[in-house]
Amino acid sequence: MLPAPPEFRPDDTIRSWGRIVRSRHRLARPVFRDQLSSLATNLRAEDPGLAVGLLRSYGDSNLNPDGRLIAMGGLDRILEFNRETGLFRAEAGLSLSQCLRVLVPAGWFLPTTPGSRFVTLGGAVANDVHGKNHHSAGSFGNSVIRIALRRTDGALMELKPDNPLFTATIGGLGLTGIIEWVEFQAKPITSSSLDAQDLPFSNVSDYFELAADHHARFEHTMAWIDCLSSGTSLGRGIFSGANWSKQGPLSVHDEAPRYAMPIEAPAGVLNPLTVRAYNQLRYSLKSTNRRPYQAHYGSFLYPLDGIAHWNRLYGRAGFFQYQCVIPAPSAKPATIDLLKRIVRSGEASFLAVLKDFGPIAPRGLLSFPTEGTTLALDFPNRGERTLRLLADLDAIVLSAGGRLYPAKDGRISAEMFQAGFPNWSRFKDLVDPGLSSALWRRVSVSSLPESTP
Ligand SMILES: Cc1cc2nc3c(=O)[nH]c(=O)nc-3n(C[C@H](O)[C@H](O)[C@H](O)COP(=O)(O)OP(=O)(O)OC[C@H]3O[C@@H](n4cnc5c(N)ncnc54)[C@H](O)[C@@H]3O)c2cc1C
Repeated sequence: MLPAPPEFRPDDTIRSWGRIVRSRHRLARPVFRDQLSSLATNLRAEDPGLAVGLLRSYGDSNLNPDGRLIAMGGLDRILEFNRETGLFRAEAGLSLSQCLRVLVPAGWFLPTTPGSRFVTLGGAVANDVHGKNHHSAGSFGNSVIRIALRRTDGALMELKPDNPLFTATIGGLGLTGIIEWVEFQAKPITSSSLDAQDLPFSNVSDYFELAADHHARFEHTMAWIDCLSSGTSLGRGIFSGANWSKQGPLSVHDEAPRYAMPIEAPAGVLNPLTVRAYNQLRYSLKSTNRRPYQAHYGSFLYPLDGIAHWNRLYGRAGFFQYQCVIPAPSAKPATIDLLKRIVRSGEASFLAVLKDFGPIAPRGLLSFPTEGTTLALDFPNRGERTLRLLADLDAIVLSAGGRLYPAKDGRISAEMFQAGFPNWSRFKDLVDPGLSSALWRRVSVSSLPESTP
């Protein structure tokens, strides 16, 4: 006999990864798919809900303050895995980390992966996540074959790519229904290690040359940049590229993190002096050694997962992550403008990443990736000062025809969102009326003046 359906219980501890907003929710934790029907049909427009995964989104796309959340982490069963073909089907609460424990020993890997493996399949679909191999593999939705979606009217739909609700659900921010399971095509590997190389570049213009020259050579690429350097060194950094090793053991990552941030860091630990010292050290160490090396996928693809609760480093006030993409034609001048503004603020942190997205078109109506360059950085939350800086960055992104990544956002305006995602009005007709989020309530205001860009 099934246990009673879980109830929505008050919970005021919910925060997203940036830790800025802590708000009261009512939370239900189902453990069987059969329980989703009664939970879903309980949701309605006047008191909507939202399914969430491991809350690894940074801002407010995974929050529904004063409303209801369905935490999907208990739905983590593998339903089908064909070791010959790499077809993989699992409940939406299964984490990528758990997927890898099964895939890797059998010689398969995720088709693409974000920089954290503590992300659920449902979250990977709902944000159509991208990884270091975007230029060669596209985003997660490009490898999804089927999705089971539960609507709040009780309907359970099996969606394939030719269904408009499929294209709305890929990158659909959890607003089209509750994803019950996901089927995707895994990628074959012959080793769990990658052959990698780090190449320094002395400014952001050199990054663009280096990236263009090396995309065909490497399946995985990304660059770390020092966003406190200026003048002729503006945006200097280290470009990393890697390919799967041709042979080697198929060993799974260590689940336990090597280090942990036990408590929130005191305010001011991350200041321009400490970040400058860190950047200088990192640049000097990496730029003297260009020799190829071998790295396990755990350290190459998921470096931050080695430090549990690293987000506490930013102290009690939390932090903003800012991630934009600028379409290829204007990517270089706009990235230079963004970096100049960031350098002038002295606000940037040690985590700043540049990456080029390739030409494979995403499938989702609201998918973030588009061919061009993406810049992602963390900023400690210093209130008005930080918000003013981010608004200036928004203006540069907007005039370059770019957009911001909703998975990282907790503050963009409806104007910015709607300009970046022109398909949003088609998308809104497919939103399930019983679902909502803090982000969606902010950005879906539909009566903007005609002149809005
Ligand atoms: C260290 C770190 C590195 C990251 N690197 C990258 C990166 O390289 N590339 C990238 O694209 N992203 C990256 N991210 C962001 C992360 O991949 C996404 O935010 C991801 O969606 C989080 O998944 P989650 O399971 O935690 O979902 P949550 O954050 O809990 O939710 C995310 C969205 O998914 C929806 N959702 C979750 N489960 C379901 C479900 N079953 N049904 C319907 N909707 C659902 C939610 O409603 C919400 O809209 C990174 C995050 C961190 C912390």
